[in-house]
Amino acid sequence: MKVYNFEPTDFDPIATDEAYMREALKLAQKAYEEEEIPIGAIIVSHGKIIGKGYNLTERLNDVTAHAEMQAFTAASNYVGGKYLKDCTLYVTVEPCVMCAGASYWSQIARIVYGAADKKRGASRYGNLYHPKTELASGVLAEECTDLIKSFFRNKR
Ligand SMILES: [Zn+2]
Repeated sequence: MKVYNFEPTDFDPIATDEAYMREALKLAQKAYEEEEIPIGAIIVSHGKIIGKGYNLTERLNDVTAHAEMQAFTAASNYVGGKYLKDCTLYVTVEPCVMCAGASYWSQIARIVYGAADKKRGASRYGNLYHPKTELASGVLAEECTDLIKSFFRNKR
């Protein structure tokens, strides 16, 4: 399974994206420690983290409890509105169709993900993102992938 994706990001300085992705990775690590599939997400607006989430599908018995969904809800609460037009989502693994759909409704400005997900990633189904959403991928992809791999290795 090849999940690496090293497309260059040419919107913001790479260092900034990496710094935020490290924050998302910390949340993924938290999920890992709680025996959840280790995916973490943060939402940033004007240099400030306004929403966080990590995968909680096991704890909540809820297939919708993906990291991104919780980050969207938290960020919307923070801004006091449903749209996230000035925001960037950083997520350690490529969003699934559900999360891509949620991001569509939020009209989020930008999505940056780490590892590609060839099996369940939304990109497999065409472009499900909002026309105003810019997409970047491959940020700290190796770290993001390693965490997932080590999780499933320990499960076997
Ligand atoms: Zn999802």
